[in-house]
Amino acid sequence: RMATRALAQPLQNADELINSVETFIFDCDGVIWKGDSLIEGVPETLDMLRSKGKRLVFVTNNSTKSRKQYGKKFETLGLNVSAEEIFASSFAVAAYLKSIDFPKDKKVYVIGEDGILKELELAGYQYLGGPEDGGKKIELKPGFLMEHDEDVGAVVVGFDRYFNYYKIQYGTLCIRENPGCLFIATNRDAVTHLTDAQEWAGGGSMVGALSGSCQREPLVVGKPSTFMMDYLANEFGISKSQICMVGDRLDTDILFGQNGGCKTLLVLSGVTSLSTLQSPNNSIQPDFYTNKISDFLSLKAA
Ligand code: PLP
Ligand code: CA
Repeated sequence: RMATRALAQPLQNADELINSVETFIFDCDGVIWKGDSLIEGVPETLDMLRSKGKRLVFVTNNSTKSRKQYGKKFETLGLNVSAEEIFASSFAVAAYLKSIDFPKDKKVYVIGEDGILKELELAGYQYLGGPEDGGKKIELKPGFLMEHDEDVGAVVVGFDRYFNYYKIQYGTLCIRENPGCLFIATNRDAVTHLTDAQEWAGGGSMVGALSGSCQREPLVVGKPSTFMMDYLANEFGISKSQICMVGDRLDTDILFGQNGGCKTLLVLSGVTSLSTLQSPNNSIQPDFYTNKISDFLSLKAA
């Protein structure tokens, strides 16, 4: 273990933590919901924080939906959250391209699902690819050569349940042969919980296929990269020392908070167990840990 940080402490006085920050950034899956079910006590906890005047922001690495689509999901779950408070890695792609003035006459090749396409469209970018792309089997006769669009200036890779070999080849051609072509990943989560019965291959698997083929590493715009943290701190005019990042994953959420210089709280309602947190193999230590965010309602000073 790297001895740079103190071991995480169990959260004992929630009010002290709440009073020490202006903003809470909540990771979504494992903190707010699990798949499509709300985690116990979440509405009451968010209401309490809002009544204390705290700013609430929601950040998810799941790129399959746009922030507008997430707005609907929050609404369906009975939560009062607006699309402007939601920063999904799908949105981060479009925000990143805007931040670098990506030319509107260039195109984006997307390996990913609908959320990324929706956000690119909203931002006025031309794109190709998406879930429907390359589904048909290509007959590889001798001499067959895959063409690619020379106007593609960025290849974006996110979670894609329709991923296939021809998408890898197309993305690789763009990255390798178009001068200056960007290679952007929404996130590199190793696993995800498509069903609660087991761990499923996460977005990092698709990113790994492209980086393996291109021999280049992508620029990640989702957690734990600092892009979204800088973006939202700037957007809302908040100081990062006034933020507490709350998440269930060490290598995305907690690192994201620490990379930004925020306070960090790990909740055990998602993918990380107490034994993983406390394992000698784990070097990522949040400031605090607790079972679930509704502990905020009961944990008072002794
Ligand atoms: N990516 C995919 C495809 C997912 O299904 C999930 C969780 O459901 C995630 C990433 C992680 O999302 P979050 O950052 O909200 O935990
Ligand atoms: Ca999570």
